[in-house]
Amino acid sequence: MGELVQMLSVAEARARILEHFSPLGSERVPLSEAAGRVLAGDVLATTDLPPFSNSSMDGYTVRAGEAAGASANSPVRLAVSADIPAGSGAPGPLAPGTAARIMTGAPMPPGADAVVPVEETDDQRERTGEPPPAQVAIRVAPVLGANVRPAGQDMRAGQTVLRAGTVLSPAAVGVLAAQGVGQVPVHIKPLVAIFSTGDELRRVEESLGPGQIRDTNSYTLAAAAASYGARVLRLEVAGDRLEAVRARFATAQEAGAHLIISSAGVSVGAYDVVKAAVEADGALGFWRVRMRPGKPLAFGQVGGVPFFGLPGNPISALVGFEVFVRPALLKLGGRTRWEKLEITAELLEPMQSDGRESYQRVIVERRGQGYVARGSGNQGSAVLSAMVRANGLLILPEGVTQAQPGDRFAVWLLEEAEGGLSAHGESGA
Ligand code: AMP
Ligand code: MG
Repeated sequence: MGELVQMLSVAEARARILEHFSPLGSERVPLSEAAGRVLAGDVLATTDLPPFSNSSMDGYTVRAGEAAGASANSPVRLAVSADIPAGSGAPGPLAPGTAARIMTGAPMPPGADAVVPVEETDDQRERTGEPPPAQVAIRVAPVLGANVRPAGQDMRAGQTVLRAGTVLSPAAVGVLAAQGVGQVPVHIKPLVAIFSTGDELRRVEESLGPGQIRDTNSYTLAAAAASYGARVLRLEVAGDRLEAVRARFATAQEAGAHLIISSAGVSVGAYDVVKAAVEADGALGFWRVRMRPGKPLAFGQVGGVPFFGLPGNPISALVGFEVFVRPALLKLGGRTRWEKLEITAELLEPMQSDGRESYQRVIVERRGQGYVARGSGNQGSAVLSAMVRANGLLILPEGVTQAQPGDRFAVWLLEEAEGGLSAHGESGA
């Protein structure tokens, strides 16, 4: 990856990073544990779904032609020749000129081609467990095929019903269940080692001395990584010493991490030792990316394990994670799509940038047919409270220094907001 000091666009940096990632191998998990995992192979249907033609209503099944003239004023009366509950095996053919009582999900008898809902007959009994009446009056003329679910209506044997790379949603889990897939091939979850660097950092449990702050980044980044399907190994803070950082690298490698992420100490500060530690144990591609927040981005490898050195400021670290680590992590985890869910919103207030691609923390809301956005507070790269309030990251493209109310920009929805905005769900499928 070699030393590179140049200004890349966000897209260029992301493309270069993604070249270094390919999906991890697979494992089999029980279906009951498969939700949220990433499917590792295409799934072919082995049976039609439904496997047999069946009724979608409780009612009476007939030959539509034999009840064609039925109306409320002149119902068609048919003898009831059979009773077909769900789960009762294969029924015999429907005797000509008769109806059979049938329940939702019960197989259609050969010969029958429509189901008349019980509400459209004179069978108004509400007690359960009674045998069918000897005769039934049909009050509405059935359309051919009415209330019948043909075999294979949902999926057909041999068809690809789920593609590799699909994130298993509740519905996808349902497909697997319906097809009898009890053990599901899924991609191994990436193991991500995360640690913070900085002599000023104290653990969450510790009280603060002069000049000290608590380590927030290892928690925010761990939470972000877990939300994108990673297993996380959070390591102790490393002080601003080469050997401390190298020791964390060693721990991460021993644990079998697929990705190592540190924060801070990658800038041009006098005590920024992370880059030197990476050079000692691997190789560094150190890039300046034309984005804000998020100044320099260190990317490389440590003992062959991909490495991200994110900025120290908490918002820079989180935005850097969203922009660069997230796609890498999703690709590693077998996902075939990693774009953020994006909407277009109209600005409600002016915004400034310095011309770099800028990720503004915003609150987006529906208004009329579209969305409007306003800043969620102080846009400083250390201001967590504005990020907490934000439900989106508005992207001021490169070259924009002044944006005015009414201007429209792309907004990445932050995950928690996606449902709340009733926007289109990210399918990943
Ligand atoms: P640095 O990149 O080391 O110059 O750090 C930039 C800023 O981020 C400094 O104000 C640090 O104190 C702060 N910072 C670094 N690491 C963390 C962390 N883990 N949690 C909170 N703030 C941090
Ligand atoms: Mg520092």
